[in-house]
Amino acid sequence: MKLISIHNLSKIYHTKNEETKSLDDISFDIEKSEILTLIGPSGCGKSTLLNILTNLEKPSEGNIEKSEELIIGYMMQNDALLPWLTVKDNALLGLKLKGIATDENIDYTLNLIEKYGLKEFLNSYPDNLSGGMRQRVSLIRTLAIKPNILLLDEPFSKLDIDSRLSISDDVYEIIKELGITTILISHDIAEALSLSDRIIILSKRPAKIKGILDLENFNNELPSKRRKSPLFNNLYNLLWGEFDHV
Ligand code: ADP
Ligand code: MG
Repeated sequence: MKLISIHNLSKIYHTKNEETKSLDDISFDIEKSEILTLIGPSGCGKSTLLNILTNLEKPSEGNIEKSEELIIGYMMQNDALLPWLTVKDNALLGLKLKGIATDENIDYTLNLIEKYGLKEFLNSYPDNLSGGMRQRVSLIRTLAIKPNILLLDEPFSKLDIDSRLSISDDVYEIIKELGITTILISHDIAEALSLSDRIIILSKRPAKIKGILDLENFNNELPSKRRKSPLFNNLYNLLWGEFDHV
């Protein structure tokens, strides 16, 4: 079932002296509960596309159909935890800012904290956590508002490679267990292959769709397992060839 249909989106930014076209006739559907990755070189228009989806920007042309009201969870590159708040208060921050810190929602969040192995760190401060743990707190804060779509804009790019690999499995399991429709933005081919159900390959700016890759042959395997399979290498080479390296 479709959550979102995107029809013929184009975007031109007008500044004083110039026009920058950043999206060129983009159309695709987002299926419920899938993890869809948009991959493309830096500056091609990936964030522009997310910003249009979240109504932060208006398209110059085209439109977006939504099958239900979107509750958007947005996790940014930087984990954006506040150093003066404990893990618990950081996790509850989104609920408080939205004015929906009900007992039920607080319980739901505390359950996520427990389930994802952070219970003993409830009263710790972010500075005392590893990068991977901070990212987990950040994800829980995003999930606390019960989004029906999760947007991850290069969420792991600041992590070292080891944390990146272990957090990938964690994040994948959490997202799949909750069944949340997810759009991941990445310029990392290996990351895209290890986490996605489908990959949309974007050209360099202005972003056009160069191809769509279905990863159903991975049978929902965890990222760490995918990375060890021969299929991974084949698809890596295929994507490498398609990717606009700029
Ligand atoms: P990506 O996320 O793929 O790195 P962006 O969507 O951030 O790329 O940017 C695509 C292009 O649009 C870039 O050339 C960028 O400079 C330009 N751009 C992004 N936002 C604005 C804006 N608000 N005004 C003018 N140009 C912009
Ligand atoms: Mg970006």
